[in-house]
Amino acid sequence: MRVIDCPCGHRLEGADDDELFRLAREHVDRDHPEMQRSDEEVRERVAADAYDA
Ligand SMILES: [Zn+2]
Repeated sequence: MRVIDCPCGHRLEGADDDELFRLAREHVDRDHPEMQRSDEEVRERVAADAYDA
């Protein structure tokens, strides 16, 4: 299980970083549209901050 914590307190959990990326993409689009993150930025975020759980 891979996990990433959004600064808003929302926790995203996925089987791998690809799933985490999809979940993070949806979460940012739904809850943080003002961040205007590109796919690349979301991927970098996942690569940098996700951890095993
Ligand atoms: Zn969030």
